Amino acid sequence: MLDAAFFRRWMTTTAASVDREAARLTELDSAIGDADHGSNLQRGFTAVAAALEKEPPTTPGAVLALAGRQLISTVGGASGPLYGTLLRRTGKALGDAPEVSGEDLARALGEGVAAVGRLGGARAGDKTMLDALIPAAEALGTSFAAGREAAEAGALATVPMRARKGRASYLGERSVGHQDPGATSAALLIDALARTAREAA
Ligand code: ADP
Ligand code: MG
Repeated sequence: MLDAAFFRRWMTTTAASVDREAARLTELDSAIGDADHGSNLQRGFTAVAAALEKEPPTTPGAVLALAGRQLISTVGGASGPLYGTLLRRTGKALGDAPEVSGEDLARALGEGVAAVGRLGGARAGDKTMLDALIPAAEALGTSFAAGREAAEAGALATVPMRARKGRASYLGERSVGHQDPGATSAALLIDALARTAREAA
């Protein structure tokens, strides 16, 4: 079972990984966006880590709700409200249970991913974070490792896609041939989850 400490480690592992990969995320965003995705998420997850340390929530749902609120209030770009909604909605679906199973988390994340789709109006194949998140949430029902692989494959699969949502969609055909920054950061989020689970085992 996964407790609040597990979810706090997931978030701090994500923060470290975003720090490490910030330059790469910004470089991807410079090709098809406005070169701020790395710094946006760095600011957001630094705030998440600080808030979790200041007043550590005691349930998995509350950890994700707090993280989501921080992302919404600190990230200016489109990705802030979208990731914030993902985590808040996932946290809400987990309710106030002190511990949840991997299957509970996979199901809750599926609800979070659906909420991102409703908020941003994007679907699979539009070259957004959803192209990593949708397959990941589905594969997490099997295992954390499967979820990680699906997210990574989903991010790579955005390269030949033409962007239909977000800033990259303004480029039309010229968005083809570049990996989507948000799908790339979504793969980092799921990779951090899989690593946290492996370390806890
Ligand atoms: P901004 O585009 O405002 O500069 P970021 O650079 O932080 O924000 O984030 C860009 C990423 O956000 C994109 O790579 C894409 O994955 C994601 N994104 C943008 N619009 C949408 C949308 N409508 N639905 C889902 N994801 C989106
Ligand atoms: Mg940007």
